[in-house]
Amino acid sequence: MNRIFIKCPTTRKLVFTGFAMDHAIFESSPIEQNAIHCPACGKDHEWQKSDAMFEAEESGPVSSHCSRAQAQSESTSFRA
Ligand SMILES: [Zn+2]
Repeated sequence: MNRIFIKCPTTRKLVFTGFAMDHAIFESSPIEQNAIHCPACGKDHEWQKSDAMFEAEESGPVSSHCSRAQAQSESTSFRA
């Protein structure tokens, strides 16, 4: 079970979307487009599967495209 983050387009911080699931389940889920209230900049952002980044179990968030993203621990306490 990994938490799903997106990158805030305004602050470039990673923000928790409120979703947490296994990568395989996420890939097969019907999620297409979502919106979150961003704790980093205070605006609402729409996001879709291609924007999602998965939090690695042992370290910080990792994108679904296998490139490492920087962990921003101050934004991980957000709950949708
Ligand atoms: Zn934002």
